[in-house]
Amino acid sequence: MGIIFLGPPGSGKGTQAETLAKEFNLNLIVMGDILRKEIKELTPLGTQIKSYVETGALVPDELVIKLIQKNLAGNSFILDGFPRTVKQAEMLDTVTQIDKVVYFNCPAELILERLSNRRTCPKCNKVYNLVTNPPKNNETCDDCKTELFQRKDDKTEVIQNRIEVYKKETFPLIDFYNKKTVLDEINAADKIENIHSKIKCLINKITKKP
Ligand code: AMP
Repeated sequence: MGIIFLGPPGSGKGTQAETLAKEFNLNLIVMGDILRKEIKELTPLGTQIKSYVETGALVPDELVIKLIQKNLAGNSFILDGFPRTVKQAEMLDTVTQIDKVVYFNCPAELILERLSNRRTCPKCNKVYNLVTNPPKNNETCDDCKTELFQRKDDKTEVIQNRIEVYKKETFPLIDFYNKKTVLDEINAADKIENIHSKIKCLINKITKKP
């Protein structure tokens, strides 16, 4: 089963993908995490892509396509953050089957509010929101007690660029997948639990569970 979570940055794809992948035993592939790992480990690829990621630009298609081919093991997966361009989607079609695309429709004001309040744990990658899902103690991870940080691309000046890039490069994918009749839209401003049950229903429909 191949599922794509599509939507602007900050629309809650990552939060939902994490729980649902566990629940349905699906391989979770998060392109942003794969790229950030390369940067953190100072690999040659990491050095090459650092400035794209930190300024909110897209990493060139040929680089992310190579990475996805390396990471796309098996046929049961949730993809978060890939594809982000029509070229990436066309390539994906040649290597695997996509059964469902969940489109997280999210207004721009909410994206801005969510991303600017997002804090991440550098050790375990757990994501918090200072307003809606704050850590228990100051800006420290509840699980591993490490000090949280704000991603460079979650700073206000970069967020606007990410939204523009999304509109220009990724938004056309909604039409691309709509034409293939695999797209379902959810309201990303809804409560986490409601979104979770809606997507669960969509996945159960594919697996034909009641
Ligand atoms: P994310 O964590 O999904 O918001 O991704 C963070 C950044 O990684 C993006 O702003 C891009 O610079 C880069 N990135 C992630 N996924 C892709 C992709 N599919 N194609 C190109 N660049 C990507």
